[in-house]
Amino acid sequence: MKGPDMEIMLKEGPFTLLRLDQEDESLLLLGDRIIVPAGACQEIIRILHLPHQGLTKTKQAARQLYFWPGMNAAIKNAVTSCQACQKFMPSQQPEPLHQIQVGGPMEMVSADLFDWAGQSWLVLVDSYSGYLIASRLFSINTDIDFCPGGRMEREKFRYRKQEQSESRARPLPILEPGTNVLVQNPITKLWDTSSKIISILDSSRSYVISDGEKTFRWNRKFIRPQNPPIRLGEIIAVEVLQCPASEKSTRLFPRLSKKKSVSFHI
Ligand SMILES: [Zn+2]
Repeated sequence: MKGPDMEIMLKEGPFTLLRLDQEDESLLLLGDRIIVPAGACQEIIRILHLPHQGLTKTKQAARQLYFWPGMNAAIKNAVTSCQACQKFMPSQQPEPLHQIQVGGPMEMVSADLFDWAGQSWLVLVDSYSGYLIASRLFSINTDIDFCPGGRMEREKFRYRKQEQSESRARPLPILEPGTNVLVQNPITKLWDTSSKIISILDSSRSYVISDGEKTFRWNRKFIRPQNPPIRLGEIIAVEVLQCPASEKSTRLFPRLSKKKSVSFHI
């Protein structure tokens, strides 16, 4: 970190105070890392996260150059609240398949919609025998939108077949009504629609959600809680309140407290 235009003013343990000759300002270092004053943390996080590389890489980049109390928590809050990163989050894992015991024919049937030859159809399947009944639909209007449309239905069917063959299935946390969520588009895979949980169906596997205009029934796998956007200044203020940077720096480097003033250059 030390360059030809820098001079060591003070060194104690892992801490070093460097004076920048050209600008009459100082750098406080912890090892080779710059100790960032509270007022500059917001801008540092913003710059580090410009490539939107996710939490791990943003933390790694920060640890290489900077230090301030509560740095990891501040970066985590900023990255998990980043709207751009949430849009491109990976798909969630499939949930385990339900095992249902059926006692006899037509005791339980499954229903779904599909398009074929330009027409909409309703299909019923007896869970006991596998007997199938298909009936053409002349209207698919309903209060609850099952997302009719051949392509989307085929995508949902393909996802279900994938889930059956994947062994990494595990339950997803239950979401409470009123929770703001992001909905994944099953075709583009982007989490690009904001909605709110209205109610829970089917033992927390399906949810009725609303985007403010329409109501949908959607599978839990394609819904995840939305982290609200947070202004970085608010995050830093909270972190500084929990662990004041000035107090910790003074405790770790007591001789600094004897100085009248120390300026920092970032
Ligand atoms: Zn981001």
